[in-house]
Amino acid sequence: MKFSEIPAHNSVKRQLVDMVDNEKIPHALLFEGKSGIGKMMLARALAQYIHCPNRSNGDSCGICPSCLQHQSFNHIDTHFSFPVIKVKNKSGAPVSDDWIDQWRQLLSDSPYMDMNTWVDLLGNPNAQPLIYVEESSALIHKLNFTSHAARFKIVLMWLPERMNEPSANKLLKLLEEPHDDTLFILVSNEPTKILPTIYSRLQRIQVKRLDDNVIAQYLERHFGVATDQAQGIARLAEGSILEATHRLSTSDESKQFLEMFISLMRFAYQKKVGELRKWSNNVAEFGREKCCRFMEYCERLTGENYIYNLRNPQLVALDYEESKFSTNFARFINERNVEQLRRLFIEARRDIAGNANAKIVLFDIAVSIILYLK
Ligand SMILES: [Zn+2]
Repeated sequence: MKFSEIPAHNSVKRQLVDMVDNEKIPHALLFEGKSGIGKMMLARALAQYIHCPNRSNGDSCGICPSCLQHQSFNHIDTHFSFPVIKVKNKSGAPVSDDWIDQWRQLLSDSPYMDMNTWVDLLGNPNAQPLIYVEESSALIHKLNFTSHAARFKIVLMWLPERMNEPSANKLLKLLEEPHDDTLFILVSNEPTKILPTIYSRLQRIQVKRLDDNVIAQYLERHFGVATDQAQGIARLAEGSILEATHRLSTSDESKQFLEMFISLMRFAYQKKVGELRKWSNNVAEFGREKCCRFMEYCERLTGENYIYNLRNPQLVALDYEESKFSTNFARFINERNVEQLRRLFIEARRDIAGNANAKIVLFDIAVSIILYLK
């Protein structure tokens, strides 16, 4: 991966290129920041840049044998280390090499490193992948006993916070006695969970969240999402491509939630009690978890419509369909009813989560809304 293939992060890229060009590469580097912003891509581009013999204009060439090996995740002096689960029919703890094929698929299918995709590839969606102590032993072996072609051997480790304690202590030994020819590049979503003795030995690079427009462009380019919708999702994604793509894939549920919210408000406004009873029964059939998500959704949409009504559209976090609805509806949410309505949804969520009869709770709030919309 070349730096130029990674959206945004220009100042980090410059910092990395300067490090390499001035031969001031720290022997242990940590990329830290929230998930889904491209830290692993920066780490991969850095490794490729370090190994490329034909660097120019602050990037690797992308076509030399070394770059080609990097791009197919097969560079002989680049060792990947990542959380894994136990392998069926194999005794002993698993190591990264046991799952290297799935790992290459993750890097190519999900360069923003989606943990959900990873546990799917590992074949167990409920798994809690870890980096076991055997992984550190395997790394020591690779670093000490294998020959190398390039000047530097590089260890690229994803999620050092998932090392168990024995594993972390063994890695610490490696970091305490650095080899001149070995670089550790670590990528962490939750750096506070890294063993402090390790964390203090790492040179840290903070990678910032992405701008909304970077995310919107990504959604348009990769998923063909319409500009309006892409911007709507980007505003909710908190700077993370993964969060944005997750929201895109759950937008079916959001659509359903929006429809149910619209009917609730319409029937309440028209005082159609019979329809509201049917509505309560239909929503109750979502099941408890989904009902709770729906109540959160109603609470959020109510709050956003209030902000919309205050004529602050740029502060509003609504997707395209939601804001279309809000152009007519927002005027019904005002300072007299917004807190009462939000409290209804919050309390309903609490009651349903606490096992109350959802049909009754929902019908109660539906009827109360008749009063609040007057
Ligand atoms: Zn090259």
